[in-house]
Amino acid sequence: MYPHQDSLFIGGAWVTPHAQEKITVIGSSTEAVLGSVPHGDEKDMDAAVAAARAAFDDPDGWPAWSPARRAEALYRLADALDRRKEDITRTVTAQNGMTITVCEQVEGMLPGTLLRYYAGLVRDESFEEVRQGMLGSPVHVRREPLGVVAAIVPWNAPQLLSATKYAPGLAAGCTFVLKPSPEAALDSILFAEAVAEAGLPAGVINIVPGGRETGAYLVSHPGVDKVAFTGSTAAGRRVAEACASRLRPVTLELGGKSAAIVLDDADLDTAIAEPFFFATMLANGQACFASTRVLAPQSRYDEVVDAVATLAKGLTVGDPMDPATQVGPLASARQRDRVEGYIEKGKAEGSRLVAGGSRPAEFSHGYYVAPTVFADVDNSQVIAREEIFGPVLSIIGYTDETDAVRIANDSEFGLGGSVWTADEERGMRVARQLRTGTVGLNHYTVDPAAPFGGVKSSGLGREFGPEALLNYQQLKSIYR
Ligand code: NAD
Repeated sequence: MYPHQDSLFIGGAWVTPHAQEKITVIGSSTEAVLGSVPHGDEKDMDAAVAAARAAFDDPDGWPAWSPARRAEALYRLADALDRRKEDITRTVTAQNGMTITVCEQVEGMLPGTLLRYYAGLVRDESFEEVRQGMLGSPVHVRREPLGVVAAIVPWNAPQLLSATKYAPGLAAGCTFVLKPSPEAALDSILFAEAVAEAGLPAGVINIVPGGRETGAYLVSHPGVDKVAFTGSTAAGRRVAEACASRLRPVTLELGGKSAAIVLDDADLDTAIAEPFFFATMLANGQACFASTRVLAPQSRYDEVVDAVATLAKGLTVGDPMDPATQVGPLASARQRDRVEGYIEKGKAEGSRLVAGGSRPAEFSHGYYVAPTVFADVDNSQVIAREEIFGPVLSIIGYTDETDAVRIANDSEFGLGGSVWTADEERGMRVARQLRTGTVGLNHYTVDPAAPFGGVKSSGLGREFGPEALLNYQQLKSIYR
């Protein structure tokens, strides 16, 4: 199924890896082997960085192309990805358990959308502005491409989270070394095939799958100019430390523990329905922005607990390839163990289990965990403080709006959040008080036209929107 799975895509060609080791990718619902890719080593990474460096340093190369010419190449890449949409979607779903209908949008459609969006933004740009200086002469302020980018992505949305980096980065004129994670490396072969078909110059995108050590080696590589990282907060800290000592620019999209604030005026029949499910348990809870702390007003506490428990119990758990499935398996045995560990902690800490709490009995294969809801959770408990990354919600009571905002903000993280109310103005008032990078009002759907990212331990910098171009540019002033 993956003809290039024994090679690495480096310098515009499929090359024999130096590494002997392989990454075997396991199906999340079947536990069967899906395929394998080379586990890149330091020599492979050196070759990839050298190729990206050569492509960037070529005086007539990618950064020297006009934005309009680069935009044409991005449109071609978007078309090449569209032609592989079904294979990409099925591969990602098989790997990480994201349900196929969600995967079609997130992994199949959005990367092409982002490429076309950034191509459209830069097509007519010169990235050079002439200002009247204070000394009587004009000053040219240029936005120049930053250089070679190390892009490191997790397994939960590998195509989208790569595209959030390469789409603005390529548009800005950077070149890339992409390191996919071991759990979701097969789809990167399909992406490389699209890059080859689109005819991007050799070395503009290079791909080396590998684990933590391979990633750490790339982050510290002398040939890299910028790091764009998505992953856990723990790994993000190590990446930030490595970049700090080299004064290397870095953007970090990290973990979350967002709050869904249900206000006391909410119509629970419409509020605690499908959009609430997407906001809290999208991708089987393996979404960084998921609102996994549900804040319920004391005046309507039992009603909210009933509504959320009923929603969770009514979800269709099953084969992620089946369009009727709402909740698929977790990505790996390791991830399921981790989530089950948190469920045990929740029980041990005395929270009241009102839905799920175990593996669904009907599946003999696959890393399934039933959608789980704990009520009577205190915000100081482990399940309310740490990111679980699975379909596990904690319901926490609050007294009034001020108390709800206080609890929502009492978190190490600040990535997403949502407010559920019949009064939009009131919802806006609450949303403005949340210390978080994004908030949804009666839904939570990331809009690529606006900046996305986190505050506090959820990250540094923003992806999406025109703002993301600045992640891949540096300013230069020429005084005349
Ligand atoms: P992870 O941190 O274990 O790994 C992420 C990637 O970083 C992988 O490719 C991994 O090989 C690599 N890596 C790990 N340690 C590294 C190091 N020291 N140096 C360089 N690279 C290193 O995370 P994961 O388990 O793959 O993904 C889940 C995490 O990602 C969750 O915490 C989730 O919230 C976060 N995430 C955040 C966003 C966001 O936009 N904020 C989006 C999706 C996922």
